[in-house]
Amino acid sequence: MSQQTTIRKLAALVNTPVEKLLEQLSEAGMQFSDPDQVVTSAEKLKLLGFLKRAHGKGDAPVEEIAAPKKITLNRSRKQELTVGGGKNRQTVDVVVRKKVTLSRPTEGAALDPDAERAEILRKLEESRAKNLSEQQRLAEEDKRRADEAEQRRQEAEAEAERLRQAAAAAAAAPEDADPAAARRTPGHGHGHKPAAAARPDERGAAAAKPKANRGSHAMVSGVEDDDKTARFAGQLHLSASDRARRSTGNTRGKPQRGGPQRRSGAQSRSGGGPHGFERPTAPVQREVAIGDAITVADLAQKLAMKGGDVVKALFKMGVMATITQSIDHDTAVLAVEELGHTAVRADADDAESELIAHVGEAQGEQVVRPPVVTIMGHVDHGKTSLLDYIRRTKVASGEAGGITQHIGAYHVETDKGVISFLDTPGHAAFTSMRARGAKLTDIVVLVVAADDGVMPQTAEAIQHAKAAKVPLIVAINKIDKSGADPSRVKNELLEHDVVAEDFGGDTQVVELSAKTGDGVDDLLDAISLQSEVLELRAVAEGRASGTVIESSLDKGRGPVATVLVQQGLLARGDYLVCGIQYGRVRALFDETGSQTQSAGPSIPVQVLGLSGVPEAGDDFVVVADERLAKEVAQQRETKRRETRLVQAAGNRMEDIMAQMGQAEQQLSLNLVIKADVQGSVEALRQALTALSNDQIRVNIIVAGVGGITESDANSAAAAKATIIGFNVRADASARKVIENSALDLRYFSVIYDVIDQVKQVASGILGMEIREEIIGIAQVRDVFRSSKFGAVAGCMVVEGVVKRSKPIRVLRDNTVVFEGELESLRRFKENVDEVRNGTECGIGVKAYNDVKAGDQIECFERIEVQRTL
Ligand code: GDP
Repeated sequence: MSQQTTIRKLAALVNTPVEKLLEQLSEAGMQFSDPDQVVTSAEKLKLLGFLKRAHGKGDAPVEEIAAPKKITLNRSRKQELTVGGGKNRQTVDVVVRKKVTLSRPTEGAALDPDAERAEILRKLEESRAKNLSEQQRLAEEDKRRADEAEQRRQEAEAEAERLRQAAAAAAAAPEDADPAAARRTPGHGHGHKPAAAARPDERGAAAAKPKANRGSHAMVSGVEDDDKTARFAGQLHLSASDRARRSTGNTRGKPQRGGPQRRSGAQSRSGGGPHGFERPTAPVQREVAIGDAITVADLAQKLAMKGGDVVKALFKMGVMATITQSIDHDTAVLAVEELGHTAVRADADDAESELIAHVGEAQGEQVVRPPVVTIMGHVDHGKTSLLDYIRRTKVASGEAGGITQHIGAYHVETDKGVISFLDTPGHAAFTSMRARGAKLTDIVVLVVAADDGVMPQTAEAIQHAKAAKVPLIVAINKIDKSGADPSRVKNELLEHDVVAEDFGGDTQVVELSAKTGDGVDDLLDAISLQSEVLELRAVAEGRASGTVIESSLDKGRGPVATVLVQQGLLARGDYLVCGIQYGRVRALFDETGSQTQSAGPSIPVQVLGLSGVPEAGDDFVVVADERLAKEVAQQRETKRRETRLVQAAGNRMEDIMAQMGQAEQQLSLNLVIKADVQGSVEALRQALTALSNDQIRVNIIVAGVGGITESDANSAAAAKATIIGFNVRADASARKVIENSALDLRYFSVIYDVIDQVKQVASGILGMEIREEIIGIAQVRDVFRSSKFGAVAGCMVVEGVVKRSKPIRVLRDNTVVFEGELESLRRFKENVDEVRNGTECGIGVKAYNDVKAGDQIECFERIEVQRTL
């Protein structure tokens, strides 16, 4: 995309209407007429200078700012400029160039470039905030108006229906009664709204305001019998057939309908009467909010146009898109403007902001809440054993003989208070949650086996905890074993900046055995102590919010999500939004499998009643009613779908480019991943896509919870993908497809195995690679020339072995001067096949006579190796 900034782009960047920007430019002495004209950087600077002076802060003359001595571009500071957002982050140019003007020697001392820059940033932020709040206000007003209109429309409809029924009843009655009745109620006969009729002045006022167009259409559409007419009238772009229908519709009326209707039709077309429909004299300009992407169908709906017409308009602009396809923000904005409407950036979705306001309401007294603990550490150091031991011995057991469920988390009650454990040990779960922005864990318990010490994953866990700024407690496990050496572990931890308390540091270290249970209580005490230090607090009442830990689809119970409540009280019957799902809490289960009425902060519960399976790491929020829950969920889903479609389109593009024979062709390994729980799906998705590098791209075509279905198999067949079943199996119809298409299906139950095998498969795709390996080096000591053999180098093999059959290179000052083969390899006048390190030999090089004393002869071989990731 071009880097040039047009007025329109600049306006979008600083969040100012184009007209206003044109006005400001003109005030700053620059005349532009067309919003698509390009604004040069000097002009931008001039405008900034002008704006600055206009705000009474700048004292440098405009020309000085407008004519900087040097201009530099420093794109690396992009992230500081959040204005505009999305693709429009190029605003950086403006700011940095401004900074350079400050290097002028005359005013150098007075101005601090950073302060200056900060000031401009502040101003841009200010203007953005102002614009945003203005936008919000307008949006609210629009919404209010639309709601009112909708209400009035509904009233009118109800009234119309009532009257229609009355008329029908009257028509069925003796003839003489009908005309009189109809005549007595000429307006009402076809759905006029009495309330509106009583307030003609109000309607007139509304129609006079240009902004009210939308509202009045909505009102009228309920009033008109032929509601198409109303739609047409408010519509700027009509297809030819619509246009034809409209013109005939106006005059023809509907023959089967009664007189009063026709009369009213004429009246409404005239635009005079209080109930009349006013045909707009100017085209209706719609303001359309567009996010990062939008489907053509949604755009058409927002513009009140036919999908086909939008497709046509896009086609004229050179964009080929079908009605179901998604177009990116820029294209959508262009299309909207091309069609004579205005586009605004949809920064926050309406429902989403309503949701935020909603959550904001839920204020209350903060009380102490239990800590949430994740257990990490090297494989086999005893994470699972420790979690199991605590659960087995500490979770208040349910009625079913203390059998506890595995729901992704559990909580225990100790003398010092409640502690919640996230029940998926390992780093993948922790990092994938973090990657999704969910901050669940308050404390990390790092398990280190006393007989094994600090291992790679121990170090990794320390890094993760530090990166997430989560405090660590070290559990030195397996102290029951004979080889246990806790002090060695503490020493090794020092190397990773983890200093135990008895070494003068601030990390609590507990020695325990997950097998015998020794020391486990000390660990729980240490956790309680750490949590007191952290002063963890939350509102324990009111509407709950939190995060999904695990989710799955249960055959009998439908979508099941384990959530961790982080604020408020989640109770049965609550309405909630959960990622892109919504629903009403039908039942809550705790980790013992028993039903519970509610769950407060830091308590995990299983939720039943959602519309679908949310993803681990999704947030959930309880809302007042189903409407909001549904709206937010749907909006989120649309957004996700649109983003995905745009991404998919990007992929297709890459494929096309690959087909076009790009030199840097990257190979793809396509995968379909199905797993038993969402946590595993996420962990696999992350781990496997991380295997991608510049040679191979790991593409995950489908990833989800549940068995492998026929449609999964079909997707895999279409993409020639390998299917991975993690603790799930393919059903019969899927197996048939897999067999017929000879697909590669693999079952696993250990994540590391999946990664290993995918690596192997990927390596297989990568094929073989020829590598050179130096097998020996000989130092040339002297050169003998003979008429029979030419130049023979008297050498000493100083490394490896020199073989007669292998190729060689002659190196002088570590530079290759010749590459070829050996003519002869001799030892004491005898031809030999190889000469080893530390042995003297005579080497004749084929077709090369310039060997000199001091050269090196390097002998190498070419081997074929399997490419690996
Ligand atoms: P994880 O990979 O970190 O989850 O480790 P596991 O909990 O699966 O434990 C690995 C092995 O160590 C298992 O065979 C456990 O029985 C054993 N183990 C765990 N904790 C202890 C302990 O405290 N003492 C002894 N002797 N063995 C333990």
